[in-house]
Amino acid sequence: MFTVENTLKALQLFSQKVEDNHVYLSELDTPIGDGDHGFNMNRGVKALSSALEGQDFNEVFEVFQKAAMELMSNVGGASGPLYGSAMLSMAKKAKETTDVLPIVQAGLEGIQKRGQAQVGDKTMVDVWQQVVDALEKDETIDANKITQWVESTKDLKANKGRASYLGERSVGYIDPGSQSSGYFFESLLEAGVI
Ligand code: ADP
Ligand code: MG
Ligand code: MG
Repeated sequence: MFTVENTLKALQLFSQKVEDNHVYLSELDTPIGDGDHGFNMNRGVKALSSALEGQDFNEVFEVFQKAAMELMSNVGGASGPLYGSAMLSMAKKAKETTDVLPIVQAGLEGIQKRGQAQVGDKTMVDVWQQVVDALEKDETIDANKITQWVESTKDLKANKGRASYLGERSVGYIDPGSQSSGYFFESLLEAGVI
């Protein structure tokens, strides 16, 4: 179950992981993109973590709403509106329930509504879908599984986003947005949400 406390903790962990790994995220985006994913995300999470600090939230949806706003207006690139949509859909769902599965599922739907990517297109959707599937089957999610899901995007050919311009040449590289999404789910794990 999401609570105000574990949601805040997860988002702070996410911010820290993105900050610590932003150079790596941009390195992943270099062979199959324009090399800015880490810088884009880092700008967003810096704004996010300062917006969350010292703020009082009464409800989970308020936390996701704030996260949506900060990511939407500070990340930029393709990933900004996608993470923004994920958080906004999660906020909407959190007004009805604080259960983990429907909220994460709503996040995935938000990403797909915005970006029109399907499973196998080598985007962050691939990692989000794996998490939703595992939650649906009530499987335990650990850091190893998350890493595997991120790494399995290597084998895919990109059909959406900048990497799709490379066609077959996009095979063999981890999708950067899947890696940043991996950090998001590792953060949910460490915060005790999933
Ligand atoms: P840009 O490509 O504009 O430079 P970023 O580098 O910040 O943006 O983000 C790239 C990431 O965004 C990709 O690795 C991929 O995971 C994700 N992405 C791009 N297009 C889509 C889409 N249509 N649906 C889902 N995710 C996408
Ligand atoms: Mg990029
Ligand atoms: Mg860019």
